[in-house]
This record gives sequence, C-alpha cells and structure tokens, in this order.
Amino acid sequence: MQHRVETELTIPSHIKRLWITRSALSGALLAAFVLAGAMTGRTCLAQAQLPSRPPGLAPLPKVTSPRLYVIDCGTLVYNRPEDYQLTREQVADTNMSVPCFLVIHPKGILLFDTGLSDRLVGRPLWENVDEGYGQIRFNTLRGALADIGVTSADITYLAISHSHWDHVGNANDYAGSTWLTQKAERDFMFGPGADKAHLPLYDALAHAKQVVFEGDHDVFGDGTVILKFTPGHTPGHQALYVKLVHTGGVVLSGDLYHYCEERPLRRMPKEEEATGTPGSREMMERFLKEKNAQLWIGHCTAFFKNAIKSPGWYD
Ligand SMILES: [Zn+2]
Ligand SMILES: [Zn+2]
Repeated sequence: MQHRVETELTIPSHIKRLWITRSALSGALLAAFVLAGAMTGRTCLAQAQLPSRPPGLAPLPKVTSPRLYVIDCGTLVYNRPEDYQLTREQVADTNMSVPCFLVIHPKGILLFDTGLSDRLVGRPLWENVDEGYGQIRFNTLRGALADIGVTSADITYLAISHSHWDHVGNANDYAGSTWLTQKAERDFMFGPGADKAHLPLYDALAHAKQVVFEGDHDVFGDGTVILKFTPGHTPGHQALYVKLVHTGGVVLSGDLYHYCEERPLRRMPKEEEATGTPGSREMMERFLKEKNAQLWIGHCTAFFKNAIKSPGWYD
C-alpha cells in the first residue's frame, strides 16, 4: 500500500481481548504438553533439551538449493487507484494481494515481509479499515509456516521490504530471528519521524539481533538470495532477488510497484516521483535484464492468483 497521511490506529478493545485469549490458550496448551512430557518420564529430559517444536508438525524441509514459498498474508480491499495515478478503467482489480515469502536455503531460512496482522483473522472487514484500506485475513502466518514445517524458532533471518503496516503486521513474532535491515529504514522506523500509530506492530525489532547495511546485501553469501536497495517508496525500501535452479531468477518487488499496471503504464504515487522510486525502478529494470529474472509484484492480484501458494513452492 501507499503510505498516506498518518491516522491514529484505533485497535478495537475486543481484538486485544481476542489476542490475550489466544495467548492464554497457547499457554494452557504448552502447560499441557509439559505435563504430558513429565508424565511419560523417559521423554521428558529430551523434550526439555530440544527447542520447542509442536508435536505433529511436519519435518523441517531439507534443501540442496533455495526454495521459495509464496504465502497468503491477506488482502487489502481498496477502490482508489487514483492514489497511484491510475484510473479504475486502467486497473483490472483495484484490490491488492498481500504475500509473505519464505526462502529455505541450505544455510538457513529467510522470512521476507510479515503481511497483515494475524490478529485480524475472523474479524469483519468494517473493523479492519486502516488508512482507507480494508484488511482481510483468512489464515495466520504462523499457521501457514507450520503447514510448511517451520516455526518462528527455525527462521534464521527476518527482512522486510519496508515498514508500512501491511508488511510488518506480524514482525514482532519474528524478533527472535536476526533482522536484516537497511540503515535508512531502521532510522525511519525508530527515528523522530516514526509512524507512531503503527510502531507497536514492529517495536520488538528494536531489541532483535540486527545486521544493518546500506545498499544491497547478499543474505547467504553465495549470490542466490540478495536484498536489493530500492529506496523511494520509503527511505530504506528493498526488494528481494532469489536465484532458483528450475524457476530461474525472481525479484520480489515489495512496494517498488503496487498495481500490476504501474509497470507498463509507468505510474506511481505522485509523491514518489521525487523520492527516488524512478531511479530505483530504472536500476531494477537493468538488473532484471542482466539476471534474466522475472519481477513478481506482490500487491498485484493477477500475480498472486496464478502463483503457486504455500505449502507448494518454487525451486
Ligand atoms: Zn504494501
Ligand atoms: Zn508500502
């Protein structure tokens, strides 16, 4: 989404209650597992020594080359493409998909973007409007990861394309991972100009282990997974390049583009014309050509509809 004039985030009181209830429930489940472990005696010690891995979870996928998962992290209901300098006639679908991406690499696991908050699941649309965007979530990121066989404890690195609320909805859940961030975005998130209304969505990252950089960052050091510095939409916006053995090169756009039509029609939010987006887009076009890579525009519903969704994958 495009960042518009900041409005105060009002979290309906029942959402807080729902969350607390869920936490209490998982606490009770955990206590039940510990008790069950204690009762079986023999397995108790082994369980205590292992990182908590819920029983019945699929085994962690083992890979010899990178594998990319496209996860449904919600939908934004929106009807003002004019904010992106497009008319309704020019846009096939004015709504936006919100994907999260998981990369399983032989050397570790990277989560790229965390989507809309898991707390929105089951809530009616009218409660979940933020800056004019209705938010829908049918699943949770945690649940989608569990379907793959991954828990938050398995995730080596968290990276976000940028800090807008539709990309950091569950960031706090992954603050135990190492956060890979552009210096400019971290400063934007925690500096004096921070979006205070949405800071609670990601404030735990302030205490996460961090790798801070300026420019591109080769995540696993072998050129197969690279964060591409693409400032403009926000000061430290980054896209993600993934080199896959069978699929070839793929770039996950973040909000370098929103609607699919922005690319052929060369449109962008008016204010981004002066903040670096044109230069970042030019750089990206050169990079795509050089790598013979595809560009996947996350908010473009035509991309998302046709994508293989997790627990399926690309490799
Ligand atoms: Zn967005
Ligand atoms: Zn954005």
